[in-house]
Amino acid sequence: MNCSIVSDRGRAWIVDPGQEGERIVRLLAQKGLEPAAVLLTHAHFDHVCGIPALEKEFPDLPVYVGSGDMAMFGHPLNQFPPEYPSIPRPADLRDVDLLDLPWLKTIHTPGHTPGGVCYHIPGDGLLLSGDTLFAGSVGRTDFPGGSMATLVDSLKKLVVLPGETLVIPGHGPHTTIAAEIAGNPFL
Ligand SMILES: [Zn+2]
Repeated sequence: MNCSIVSDRGRAWIVDPGQEGERIVRLLAQKGLEPAAVLLTHAHFDHVCGIPALEKEFPDLPVYVGSGDMAMFGHPLNQFPPEYPSIPRPADLRDVDLLDLPWLKTIHTPGHTPGGVCYHIPGDGLLLSGDTLFAGSVGRTDFPGGSMATLVDSLKKLVVLPGETLVIPGHGPHTTIAAEIAGNPFL
């Protein structure tokens, strides 16, 4: 899966640390970045397993997630050990609606999960779409709490973004909104 690190004036927001938390810690040090928070597009097992290593290094690190996904932490259905063990609820878990960054907009896109969101950075023409929108596809809706009808409604919020917006999905290659409108059967 794709983890993204977004930085602004020396501070870093880590989007979906799915694995390799130690590697993310090293990368932050190499780049001279101070972590501000973890931003989750959703709380599925493969997007959160890097959190414990980050919390070990940065114990006060806030973790933002859609409120509809908060119950997934520690839930037996949200793990596939050994690669994806049960991840306990982060010490400072916050509702993503409390996130207040002037350059980043949270778009609620439930469907893949009940609390799924995308992060839009209009100034950089960037959308971190999690598992809502992939290049040529969308996230599966057969996990607990998933709904294809809800996901289709959420996609309507993404197709209105500028066509040249670069989409970084939760898995697979990058794409753009225009390319997905042209070639994604779900749109
Ligand atoms: Zn997922």
